[in-house]
Formats: sequence, C-alpha cells, structure tokens
Amino acid sequence: MADWVQVDLHIHTAASPCAEAEMTPWNIVRMAQLEGLALIAVTDHNTIANAGAVMEVGERLGLAVLPGVEVQTREEVHLLGVFPSLEQAAAFQGLIWSRLPDQPNHPKIFGEQILYDSNDTPIGTIERLLLQSVPLGIEEAGAAIAAHGGLTIAAHVNRRSYSLISQLAMVPEGLKLDAVEIDRSCSYERFIEEHEELRCYPILCSSDAHRLTDLVGSHRPWLLLDDVSFAALKELLASDDCSRIRYR
Ligand SMILES: [Zn+2]
Ligand SMILES: [Zn+2]
Repeated sequence: MADWVQVDLHIHTAASPCAEAEMTPWNIVRMAQLEGLALIAVTDHNTIANAGAVMEVGERLGLAVLPGVEVQTREEVHLLGVFPSLEQAAAFQGLIWSRLPDQPNHPKIFGEQILYDSNDTPIGTIERLLLQSVPLGIEEAGAAIAAHGGLTIAAHVNRRSYSLISQLAMVPEGLKLDAVEIDRSCSYERFIEEHEELRCYPILCSSDAHRLTDLVGSHRPWLLLDDVSFAALKELLASDDCSRIRYR
C-alpha cells in the first residue's frame, strides 16, 4: 500500500575527504532512523567504496540504503547517480575510476578518505584524490548513469558553485534528468519562484550531509511511494504527479 515517507538521497561517508570521520556506516544508518527516514542514498565524491558497508548495516537495522555516486563532470557540475543495486553502481564506478585523474590525495589539505567495514572498523584509505573532475561531459555522464540503470539527479542546483545552474545556467538538451536537487539551505517555494523553468522536474531537497548533525531536522520532502524501494522511487519520479511530493 502506498505511504508517505521521507527520503534523503545525498549523504556522504568518511570516504569523501570533505566529510567527517564520524560518517561511518552505523552512525549514518542510526541517525537516519532517528530522523525518521525510510530510504537513503550514499553518494560519495566519485566513489562507491563505502556504499556496500552502509547497505549491509541498513539491512541489519531495517533501513533501505541505495548506492550512489556524486560525479564531478568536466564542467565542474555535481551530478548524482543513484542505483538499484551495488553491482550496477560498481559497474558505473568502473567507468569513473578509469577516467578519474591519478592524482594522490593530500590528507592534510583535503582530508582523509576513510574506508569502513560494516562493523565501523576503519579498513584503509583511498589514495587517489576524489575531489576532482572526471573528464566526462555532463551529457555523457548522465547517459552513463542511465545506461547502468541509475537515476540522474542534478545536485544542489541552488548553489553558486559546482551546480548545473552555476556552471551552465541551463539544462543541456542531451541531458535527461530524473530529478533536480536543492540543498537544505533552500526552501522549495523560494527556489521554484526563482526557477520556474525547472518546475517540470521533480524537485527533491537533500541534506548533502558531511557530518551527522547535517542529518538533523534537515528540510526534506515527503514522497508518496508504493513501497520503499528503488523501483517505487523511479516510478514516482517518472510519474509527473507533483502531488506525490510534498514539503510540510
Ligand atoms: Zn556537491
Ligand atoms: Zn555532496
């Protein structure tokens, strides 16, 4: 039976250099549950390395967790790919990894890129710097996400940097978006007043959490989903039924 649920499709783990070490699998899942979220996506910069561990914890504690990536395209636009399975996410990750420049991370400048297992034990770090553009154009990146079965979401379009609007001021003709994201600093009403041209897309507010407190009281939408799954999320975003996304 369809039910109203809250989702957050943009959460970083400690693998992202700009995220805190406290963004471990257990902390993320527990905090999401305390906040009443039914479905989350883990979206680190250019990697899915911690997604499997968060999914395992989600399974143990009863929270739906989807694997995702926040890709930085050639135009320095942040694009989210959210996938139905770890296998599909991993196949997309293979493409990203083959193109991401082989520059080392400098933890003192950018922060550690920490890997965790599903018991919250640190098991290593990612040596390659994740905060870089992948030499893929935005249309190419969007098409690759779709080809791997994922949802393509333009990240934090209300921001003045690393967003579709800040970099390109428009949606390119060849880019098929499943949704447009605004971050938690922005109200839906204010955004849509300024960007009437994006009203045709489902607009989702996400936390873009880099620390646990970013998940607290975040301004997020209620979605009327048939069930809590990737398939139901995809069906809703494709439905053109705005009455099934509410902010209250
Ligand atoms: Zn971003
Ligand atoms: Zn982000």
